[in-house]
Amino acid sequence: MLESSEYLHPDKECLSHEEIRALQVKRLQETMRHCMNNPFYKKKFEEMGVTPEDIKSVEDVRKLPFTTKQDLRDTYPFGLASVPLEKCVRLHSSSGTTGNPTVILHTQKDLDEWANAVARCLWMVGLRPSDVFQNSSGYGMFTGGLGFQYGAERLGMLTVPAAAGNTLRQIKFITDFGTTAIHAVPSYVTRIKEVMDQQGIDPRKDTKLRILAIGAEPHSEEQRKRIEDMLGVKAYNSFGMSEMCGPGVAFECKEQNGLHFWEDYYIVEIVDPETLEPVPDGEIGELVLTTINREAMPLIRYRTRDLTRVLGRTCPCGRNHIRLDRMKGRSDDMMVLRGVNIFPIQIEKILMQFKELSTNYLITLTTDNDNDNMTVEVEYNETPADMVALTKEITRRLKDEILLTPHVKLLPLGTLPQSEGKAVRVKDLRTVYQ
Ligand code: AMP
Ligand code: ZN
Repeated sequence: MLESSEYLHPDKECLSHEEIRALQVKRLQETMRHCMNNPFYKKKFEEMGVTPEDIKSVEDVRKLPFTTKQDLRDTYPFGLASVPLEKCVRLHSSSGTTGNPTVILHTQKDLDEWANAVARCLWMVGLRPSDVFQNSSGYGMFTGGLGFQYGAERLGMLTVPAAAGNTLRQIKFITDFGTTAIHAVPSYVTRIKEVMDQQGIDPRKDTKLRILAIGAEPHSEEQRKRIEDMLGVKAYNSFGMSEMCGPGVAFECKEQNGLHFWEDYYIVEIVDPETLEPVPDGEIGELVLTTINREAMPLIRYRTRDLTRVLGRTCPCGRNHIRLDRMKGRSDDMMVLRGVNIFPIQIEKILMQFKELSTNYLITLTTDNDNDNMTVEVEYNETPADMVALTKEITRRLKDEILLTPHVKLLPLGTLPQSEGKAVRVKDLRTVYQ
């Protein structure tokens, strides 16, 4: 049974499928009307000859144009705003590796709705106003900072804006303030635990930690289990992206059976990235999201590049918001090596099955004698009794998974570069790309 709260929004969270769909149709029509204030969308709708009245069911979203990251770049900085700039109170920007960065604008109403969405996620995993929430993710332009800050405050928790880094100080906060919950990227959680070990701190005995929100980067089920065992906590997957606001787009519930995407905020589609046609439930495709509750900068059919699949449309927790699988990665993360498609998460999944290994790893791709090669460097927790045998076994298991033989190197803890933000898992040093 769902516990009631003002953040649970039982009127929205426990809607039946029919109610969700009716709300989506209504909100999509409103969003389209609102987007007519924006020259980019107005032109696109006119070119396609589509009007809000053409939206009679949720599937009619397919009549609308896609929006891509390139569109955001081309209209940089404010070209996709659907309200005058004076109505906006915040912007977030992601730095592009090439060309213009992207900018996302928010009105006060957008920020309020965003905080409500994050509060709803945090309530769903069992956090309450009596909890102490430490946000150990980067602040500033990265939405994981302010997004969780306002959401956790909205729920009424004592919220510690610790930000990322300065791990010794992080740990002091955890012990001194009685922190019960942390939000951090998974790779940084591992770092916190390493430093706790060095300090002789036992998270089970010396801290009050009980719940973690981990996200912002792909991670495997194995990595989640590692984190839970390491700290003696429950760790929940948190999915978000700046284009949709930030965190709060989707979260796991206590069942830990996939990410609930909030369908009163978004219309979710999974499409074949080549044909752009919908794929059946259960099949992997590209996640496409349409915002239906945003004021400053609604995005229609935004191609996220994230690959996932539908797991279900009901849940024992009582929520009927669609459940998607943890992200397999982004289509841009896919490595093509000697014609084989490989995602970093496949490698992580295998590495995490070896309890001797830590969660820090780095995949390096090189060209040697015109051949693509992969080196997997991974740190071990304690010096293995038989290094050669362990290396061999890891290599064999990786080969079974990715169908080619990587060069595996085991390294002592603390050897690989540590990042406080999203981890860099792949270094592609190949001279010739396939
Ligand atoms: P940003 O807008 O910089 O916060 O990056 C958003 C991207 O981070 C998403 O499109 C995903 O590729 C990735 N991401 C965010 N949360 C998760 C998650 N829980 N699992 C996997 N990838 C994630
Ligand atoms: Zn659920």
